[in-house]
Amino acid sequence: MTTDTRTSAGRPRRLIEIDTDSCVGSAMCGSIARGVFALGDDGKATVVDLEAPADEQIDDTIDRALDEAAASCPVSAISWRPAGEGAHR
Ligand code: SF4
Repeated sequence: MTTDTRTSAGRPRRLIEIDTDSCVGSAMCGSIARGVFALGDDGKATVVDLEAPADEQIDDTIDRALDEAAASCPVSAISWRPAGEGAHR
């Protein structure tokens, strides 16, 4: 599953990919990047926050939380990148 976050102006800000086949539903990502990830009805992670505020400080916080969530996923199911750049992992 690939989804994106957008600025409040509607411009794509980040592309977030979750390998839902690998996801084991540990909920680690949601505990780290609160408000970005949650478990869906299928017990797999999903992105719940699709609109990021146009605020650099908040953006940096979200970016760090995404890095930490991706690094903490026990099955490395999360990758993300700023729109237009190579993948972070
Ligand atoms: S941390 Fe990884 S395995 Fe755990 S719910 Fe998130 S994507 Fe799934």
